[in-house]
Amino acid sequence: MEVSRMSVRLPGWKEMAIGGIIVNPGNSLEYKTGDWKVLMPVIDQDKCIRCRICWYVCPDNAIKELDKPHTTKAKRVYKISYDVDYDYCKGCGMCAQECPVKAIDMVPVEVS
Ligand code: SF4
Ligand code: SF4
Repeated sequence: MEVSRMSVRLPGWKEMAIGGIIVNPGNSLEYKTGDWKVLMPVIDQDKCIRCRICWYVCPDNAIKELDKPHTTKAKRVYKISYDVDYDYCKGCGMCAQECPVKAIDMVPVEVS
């Protein structure tokens, strides 16, 4: 069997298109990644002790620290609240796993 020996010219590195450049920084905000989830975290504002651990561990920066005061049923006053940005939360459950007082429940996402 005869093998054809066609010569193929490959481009040199100087001719190749430059990759790995983000020409529009911050564009990930345009992509709502939260629709992947089947479970969603729900924070019980009365149980939450404002320790910020969920904010630290969330891999998607989906826990928001809000200037939203809250008074618990036991009359404890907090100046801030933590809440979930469901547009970006992927439902991994790390926040619920790490919350020291189990103030976060993972509940099924309702599909309409
Ligand atoms: S479930 Fe995962 S992605 Fe969603 S807020 Fe908690 S840690 Fe972040
Ligand atoms: S980890 Fe739990 S207690 Fe701490 S801020 Fe988050 S919800 Fe509140």
